[in-house]
Amino acid sequence: MSDCIFCKIAAGEIPCTFLHEDEELVAFRDIAPQAPTHILIVPKVHIADLNALDAAHQALVGRIPLVAAKLAKSLGVAESGYRIVTNCGPDGGQTVHHLHTHLLGGRSLVGQMG
Ligand code: AMP
Repeated sequence: MSDCIFCKIAAGEIPCTFLHEDEELVAFRDIAPQAPTHILIVPKVHIADLNALDAAHQALVGRIPLVAAKLAKSLGVAESGYRIVTNCGPDGGQTVHHLHTHLLGGRSLVGQMG
């Protein structure tokens, strides 16, 4: 989508340091981090949100936790712990309408689910 910020980042049209890139996914630091480690894992293909997923996306979506775990290890939060979150829609707090998963770590998130 031409006006989607994450499409532009994933396509390299906006300068961004990727912590992970493969044929389907990129990962980069959140511009407004909510924790010392706050990474976004983003499909290269435009998918608006969880509601837009279908069976064809199953393998792609299934790889997101694997990338998160790999990043958690490389960023040193695997042992201390971390959380992955995908917000959907207004009540979910989604602000960027391109599917993405937050990887949060580096501080305690206990008791914070919303
Ligand atoms: P959500 O509210 O779940 O849709 O998350 C969107 C996230 O994208 C927020 O945490 C924003 O801080 C982050 N964000 C928005 N624009 C950018 C950008 N250009 N680069 C990195 N992160 C961004």
